[in-house]
Amino acid sequence: MSYCAKCLIEIAPRVKDCPQCGSPVVGQLAPEQKVRVEWCLVGIFNDVTQANMAKIALESNGLPVLLKTDVIHSALLVQGTALPGAYALLFVLRRDRLIARRIVKGMTGK
Ligand SMILES: [Zn+2]
Repeated sequence: MSYCAKCLIEIAPRVKDCPQCGSPVVGQLAPEQKVRVEWCLVGIFNDVTQANMAKIALESNGLPVLLKTDVIHSALLVQGTALPGAYALLFVLRRDRLIARRIVKGMTGK
């Protein structure tokens, strides 16, 4: 598994640059960074209403969800992680990420 050392998110295998910030991905994170990737980013929303709908959809499937609408001050994102136009980030537990991405994709078509 690869990670973005800047965003501290998981990156799909064979992807060379972080889709979120464009930084090169790394194979491992330092141990103190690892706790952060227990929550995996599964959706970036411009629309908080849509983000909440996705959250409800995931929760109705029994998945714990973390919705960050205060992106700039999010403790899960390190400094310098600019996400222009993004107002809500949706995270799920690492173990739920695949099913969560399917659910979110089904909702947003992205
Ligand atoms: Zn990144």
